[in-house]
This record gives sequence, structure tokens and C-alpha cells, in this order.
Amino acid sequence: MSSRKVRVRFAPSPTGGLHLGGVRTVLFNYLFARQHGGDFVLRIEDTDQSRYVPGAEEYITECLQWCGLNPDESPGVGGPYAPYRQSERKALYREYAERLVMQGHAYYAFDTPEELERNRREIPNFQYGHAYRDTLRNSLTLTQTQVDQLLKDGVPHVIRIKMPVDETVHFEDMIRGHVSFDTNQSDDKVLLKADGMPTYHLAVVVDDYLMKITHAFRGEEWLPSAPVHLLLWEYLGWKADMPQWAHLPLILKPDGHGKLSKRDGVRLGFPVYAMNWFDPNTGELTPGFRELGFLPEAFLNLLVMLGWNDGTDTEIFSLEELIRKFSIERVNKAGARFDFEKARWFNAEWIKRSEARSLRSEVRRILEDKGVIVADDEYLLKVIGLVKERCVLLPDFYQQSAYFFDAPKEYDLPSVKPKWTEAKAEFFRAFIAMLGNEEVSDDAHELEIRFKALADERGIKPGELMLPFRIMLVGGKFGPHVFDVAVLLGKQETVRRIETALAAFAD
Ligand code: GLU
Repeated sequence: MSSRKVRVRFAPSPTGGLHLGGVRTVLFNYLFARQHGGDFVLRIEDTDQSRYVPGAEEYITECLQWCGLNPDESPGVGGPYAPYRQSERKALYREYAERLVMQGHAYYAFDTPEELERNRREIPNFQYGHAYRDTLRNSLTLTQTQVDQLLKDGVPHVIRIKMPVDETVHFEDMIRGHVSFDTNQSDDKVLLKADGMPTYHLAVVVDDYLMKITHAFRGEEWLPSAPVHLLLWEYLGWKADMPQWAHLPLILKPDGHGKLSKRDGVRLGFPVYAMNWFDPNTGELTPGFRELGFLPEAFLNLLVMLGWNDGTDTEIFSLEELIRKFSIERVNKAGARFDFEKARWFNAEWIKRSEARSLRSEVRRILEDKGVIVADDEYLLKVIGLVKERCVLLPDFYQQSAYFFDAPKEYDLPSVKPKWTEAKAEFFRAFIAMLGNEEVSDDAHELEIRFKALADERGIKPGELMLPFRIMLVGGKFGPHVFDVAVLLGKQETVRRIETALAAFAD
């Protein structure tokens, strides 16, 4: 095992948007692969045609791109084990299902959907398994001749695994340690369907084997399926090549009760999907982290912390750091509670830490979408540098920086007028004159000193002038240090804004 090249896979079914738990699974796969110089495979598990949703696969690919977690092998990229879409591999699964039948580990079942429905209705807790299989229409109860005839006549049938009775199946999970199951608990899962398609259970085992997967990370919700998969690895004679399993902890609702679902997001007002998902079948739009204004770096950072830490209090990690520090051994068994406020905090931290340059195109798009004309790129960079500490989500850049491009059209007058005096208006006229007459450098600190000196000369407390000055330049009670704003706006624009505001304050 140790000599094999590490190969991991993310194996989503293209049935809808990608839950944040799915992206966390991608991330853990990706980190593990990168750490071990291994390969990260994207395999599309689309054998359940009834659940297929057009656009879902493209959505998954785009999500991985947005996060920067691109696979080494995938339907799009190709690779040595292509095809990577299970529906395109349909022909190769039957052979394995039939091998299991021959060995006595699986059987043909000819029961019609109506018959099964009747059983479910009439028998409480009916399961197609050891308790009832001997009473149903399958190759365990029919004679070989009858079976051969039914097969020859093309009578629709499925192949089911024959779960052993009174056995215990166990394995070592990389996160959960020793896990064991009683085989009586599981029904005889269908392996090959009437349409010739494998079910997930057969396809996941066959493909993990054929694609030489060494480690399989997946959500805890797949744990109940593990005994079936383990038995298949064993029956097919591949046990020595079985991947090491890691079942990742659930992501829980904010109150800690149960798995976080799409509906919780709608109910509590935050996204649960990575990106906006539009369901073409229902017409429903489910919001995503990306469109809400999360940076991919922040999204990945908040995801990794749902269930993992590096053993210190450090919370901010870049992807590069995670590749060095992540270890599956430090992933918790217990579910991780999702906290949207904390998610916002991660984003604010990442915006603060990002270079203005890397935020530029997104911020430009946000401003332009709102009709703000951004002519000068260098100016935009300075604006971003000045306001980024105040933005939690990317769209906050609009509110925090639009006034740098368009002078305020409205002022927060109630905050100025009650204390507005002719002496203050006089001060600002003198300040304009000072700006006009004297050389004023581009140094916010120097400008502040001069402003305060002028106030002192006129016997006005500088503190009483700061708020009006801010409202003149910005329109409201927000924004960075007012002298930084003035310097960035430039002398001319600052003067113009003071003049316009003086007229408005006087009305
Ligand atoms: N197709 C399964 C899913 O949709 C994959 C589970 C696994 O990784 O084995 O999540």
C-alpha cells in the first residue's frame, strides 16, 4: 500500500448545487493529494439517471475553478483512466456484477416494482434482505432452468448483493478509528439496475479499484453504505487494494441540532451552496457564497476550520499553508457547527489581508454594475487600499468607496445642522483659502496638523469640525480617516466638495 502513488477522488452526483460540505470534501482531498505529491481525480457519479440535473456537472467544475482546487484528472481534463463520467462507463460494470452472482455473493431478482410495492405496503418494515429474500422472486428461490429462461426472455431484473447473515464487518477509518457493522442491519442493495446501469454502490467500488484510488474521503452520511462497499472489495478479490477510508464529520446547523441543509440557509438567511444554483427543473434559485461576496480564500479557510485545526489558536490559513499543515489525523470526529457570523469574519480578514491589486477586478465590476465610472486604475487601487479594512463582503466596496468617484448627492444633515454655526462655516471658508494659497503636501498627517492649527487660531475645538468635514466629503458618518480621504480626493475635489456642502448646510 505504502509504495502506491497517492490518488484521491471527489465523486459527486450531478444532482444540484454544491453544498459547502461538498466543497470541504474537495478541499480535504486536494490538500491530501498535494501534500503527498498525489493525484486528485474528479469523477462524476451520474448513474442515477432519474436524479440527473442538466448543468449540475458544469456547475461543479466551475465551483472547483473558483476555489482554485482544480483536479488533475476529470471529464474535462481527461486522464489515463478516462472516461471519468460513470454513465460513459456503463458497459464495464455488468461483468463485475455477474462475477458476484457466479460466486454466490449476489443474485438476480425479478420482482416487479408492483410486487415490491405490495410487500412494502403489507409487511411492516419490509426490507429486501436476509429475512425475506427466500420468499421473493429471485435466483435464490427459482431453479437454474427458470432463471436461465427468464434471462433469455429478457425479463427485467436487477442484481442484488447477498448480505451475509450474522457477520461483523469492520475497518479502520482515518478519522473515526475502528468502525464495525452488523451485516444483518443492511438490506440486499441493488448493484445493477434493470436498465443495465450500476448503482452507486457497485460503481464506486469498481471505479475506485480501476482508478487506483488509495484514499477515499467522503461525508459521514456515507458511513452506513461502507459495509456494502467493504464486502464488495472483499468479494471481488481486491481487498489488498482497498482505499483507506475517511468519513468527514457533518456540518451542523448553527444550533448544533442536525445536519445543515439548504432549507436552513433559506430559513436563517445565509448561503449553504458554494455558488448560486439555478435549478432548471424547479426554477428555484439557491444563493451561493460566491455571489454574496465571499473570496475563495476565505471560503476555503472557513471550510477547513469546520472540523480541523492545527493544534494552535491560528485561524487564518492560506491554501499554501494548508498544504503544509493539514493533517487528516487532526480532523475531529464530532460534527462542526456552522456559524455565519464567523464565516463573515473570515471574509473580512481575507479582504483586509488581500493586496488591492488582487481585489481590483472584482471591485471594479461591483462599482460598474452600480453605474460608478472608474476611469483611473491607479486611483481605484488607492481607494481599495484605503477602504478594504471596512468591507466584510465584496459588495460592501460599493458603499465604502462610491463617494471617491461621485461626490455625495445627499448629506447626513441631521448629524450636522443642529450644531452648525456661522463660525464653523467661516472656518471652512478659511480652510479653502488655505488650501488655495499654500502648498499642501500629499501627507494626510500634515494636512491634519494644519487643519487643527487653523481651528485653534479661530478658537474652535477641532473635534467639532471633524464630523462636518467628513460629511462634506463622504456624505455620511462612515469611511476611513477623513484626512486620508481628503488627500486621496485631491485638493481641487476637496475644495469643490466643501463649497457644495457649505451651500447645502446653509439652506
Ligand atoms: N456519489 C457520491 C456522492 O454524491 C459519492 C460518495 C463517495 O465519495 O463515495 O456524494
